[in-house]
Amino acid sequence: MKTLLFFFILFASIVSQAQNKICGTVGKGKPIIFSKQTMDSLKLTNAINTPYTVKVYVTIFADDNGTNRSDTDAHINDYMQVMTNVFQAHNICFLLGGIKQINNTDLNNQNVDTEESELTPYIEPGFLNIFVHRTLPGYSGYAYNIPNTFLSIVGNLFEDVILAHEMGHCLGLYHTFEPWLDNNGNPTNKENVARAGNCQNCTTAGDVLCDTPADDNGGVNAACVYTGTGKDACNAFYSPLTNNVMGYGNAACNDTFTAGQGDRMRTFLTTNNDLKTFTLHDVLYTPVFGNVTISSGKGYTLARDRVFVSDGNANLTVNGTAQQFFQAKKVSLRSGTKFSPAVGGKVSVKSNPFCN
Ligand SMILES: [Zn+2]
Repeated sequence: MKTLLFFFILFASIVSQAQNKICGTVGKGKPIIFSKQTMDSLKLTNAINTPYTVKVYVTIFADDNGTNRSDTDAHINDYMQVMTNVFQAHNICFLLGGIKQINNTDLNNQNVDTEESELTPYIEPGFLNIFVHRTLPGYSGYAYNIPNTFLSIVGNLFEDVILAHEMGHCLGLYHTFEPWLDNNGNPTNKENVARAGNCQNCTTAGDVLCDTPADDNGGVNAACVYTGTGKDACNAFYSPLTNNVMGYGNAACNDTFTAGQGDRMRTFLTTNNDLKTFTLHDVLYTPVFGNVTISSGKGYTLARDRVFVSDGNANLTVNGTAQQFFQAKKVSLRSGTKFSPAVGGKVSVKSNPFCN
């Protein structure tokens, strides 16, 4: 019994150590930098179209026999709510298209370095995909690439901000301390503290944003105070943000993006061909012309503000095995709408809680 207990304690301590690192997503190659011209030209578009609503879909892994489910639906909603709160100030919000469970022990314990491609069959098309695993050995979350269309997180974490952090990577943000390591692990493009003069490099180094101070990932204590003592290449002491979502520091302190980070994410959402497809229209009417009957297949009618179903002249009927999902801040089912799904069919009408 003593031996068993010893092994249990040893195992528990290894697991908790393995979770120490927030995220392993690193910048690869060279940073993506938008020209001032591009940023300026998008200012008007961004002002008119905000808030951007990003469609996400969650896959929760469990073991082959259905046990060890990596998280509960209720806790996924907590992750979503924390993410919504962080992004709201930057005119980005979310719509959760659905949650599915996949029983696969291998994927429930995901090696992010070697098993990225194993996720492909489980990607829900048309959504930014969130995969939830029981373990991601070494990490709490991983976005694979910057930007990207899918991410992985560990389920049931106390630090709910991890989803917002990985989403930040998917929408084009680097770590505030990104050193751009070469193959030998040496930094090639570290950001300096200075914001003027010869040492200034904040537009091309680190996270390529000047409103996030240079960061050496030197540590943040329980009181959210920076504990590092490092200096940059120009001998200036670091004084990083200790509440930024894209820092490591102390995850419990991280609840804010800067204006520059918000701008950069909205720029990716308007210019990246993959990410663009995940943003919603403001209002949708269905059907557009004449009466339409859907009897089979899966379909989503999703909008930011309103979905109007039927108008008396163009009416929608859903029956048979069709699986149809309607979601927006408000969904209006008007007279002429008929939902009569048969066995295997489904109609879901929901208001979206993740976009104010
Ligand atoms: Zn990260």
